[in-house]
Amino acid sequence: MTSARHPVDRRGPLPARAEVVVVGGGALGASVAFHLAEEGVDVLLLEADELASGSSGKPIGGVRAQFSDPANVDLGNRSLELYEDFANRPGADIGLQQPGYLFLLPDADDVALFEESVAMQNERGVASRMLDHDAVRRLNPYVDAGRYAGAAYAARDGFAYPHAVVEGYAAGAERYGGSVRTHVTVTDVETRGDNVVAVRTNQGRVRTGAVVLCTGAWTRELATRAGLDLPVDPCRRQIGFTPPLDPAPPRIPFTIDYGTTFYFHNAEPGGLLLGIADPATPIAFERTYDPGWLPLLRGAIGACAPELVDVPVAGGWAGLYEMTPDHNALIGEANGVPGRVLYAAGFSGHGFLQAPAVGEVVRDLYAGRPPRIDVSGFSADRFAAVSAETTTTSPGRRGPEANII
Ligand SMILES: Cc1cc2nc3c(=O)[nH]c(=O)nc-3n(C[C@H](O)[C@H](O)[C@H](O)COP(=O)(O)OP(=O)(O)OC[C@H]3O[C@@H](n4cnc5c(N)ncnc54)[C@H](O)[C@@H]3O)c2cc1C
Repeated sequence: MTSARHPVDRRGPLPARAEVVVVGGGALGASVAFHLAEEGVDVLLLEADELASGSSGKPIGGVRAQFSDPANVDLGNRSLELYEDFANRPGADIGLQQPGYLFLLPDADDVALFEESVAMQNERGVASRMLDHDAVRRLNPYVDAGRYAGAAYAARDGFAYPHAVVEGYAAGAERYGGSVRTHVTVTDVETRGDNVVAVRTNQGRVRTGAVVLCTGAWTRELATRAGLDLPVDPCRRQIGFTPPLDPAPPRIPFTIDYGTTFYFHNAEPGGLLLGIADPATPIAFERTYDPGWLPLLRGAIGACAPELVDVPVAGGWAGLYEMTPDHNALIGEANGVPGRVLYAAGFSGHGFLQAPAVGEVVRDLYAGRPPRIDVSGFSADRFAAVSAETTTTSPGRRGPEANII
């Protein structure tokens, strides 16, 4: 499968002006740039490093529509449609696999919560369902199904390669006349009167009338310079990979123990990807892979899939979750600052699976059209009345969206 690991060289002189400047070359910025360019907007995407060098550098990204908040269900579901069509539009192989997502629910309260969510998801066109123990065993023979009070599953969910998605959208934006430049850090948004007039960068100034902040975990600082309070905090999350296993694992769903947050799924060639959220991780820009998480991981593996408790972990990857105080995204257009500043950031660990639909939403917000998915609840204004102290993120707490790992 293609994972587009070799970055295309996109250094070069900056254009003097662009109608819209999108800051941040991850899944969100690339999707926004593509959807704007496809609409005929003269768009410039600027990335401080290489494309997909931030959180979207995760080697494999899960995609799903199983959420407890209707807007998250709609964003996930629409994104699944767009990922399924990615080979046609924008036109790239993203290695999409759809073995489903299986949530394992430790107790009766979790089952009640998921029954409610599944009913809501079904009403919105998502074919999720509750499963009994036998069905769990058939889907994932590693799981000690009897330990769980229930399970929820949707067959259309799965995973794909974020690097290929970012490159696919960036190349698509360029085909429609957009420009992409890497190794350009945006340092400020310049305004005059009621208008945005330019962005300043480490490579010079670009005149523009509108800016979209898609800066992931790094959003707070640039937003502050633009006069905006976007409460996004960085928090390291890690994944591990087994070597090829003998016997090779069967095809299993993306499987999550909702109690411990341990999750695992197939990873090529013939191995497994393993992950868990460590609630003790501090808020920090720390992206070094630390094998110190392995005892926590092994404890959770033993409680879920005892057969795998001693499985070798050959290596791993660390990246940043971009946490907001309520673990939902920030999507909208800024109020109370001069000119047009839009934002799509702080996805709190589910940005890859929402990137395609959010690209459409931001395109529509820019055009002044009501987007097909109502994201008004994700406006940063929801935090405006909350003090800075309470908008500092607690990495171990679940917010109003219950299905965040
Ligand atoms: C271990 C782990 C597992 C995850 N698993 C999943 C999953 O299964 N499914 C899922 O949907 N999500 C998952 N996520 C979360 C997902 O990776 C993120 O939500 C998503 O990648 C965010 O994309 P983004 O474009 O907003 O941010 P990023 O990919 O971080 O992109 C932001 C970019 O902005 C650039 N930038 C910042 N400031 C500036 C500036 N001033 N000028 C220019 N450029 C700038 C950065 O260099 C960066 O490249 C996971 C994350 C981690 C760490």
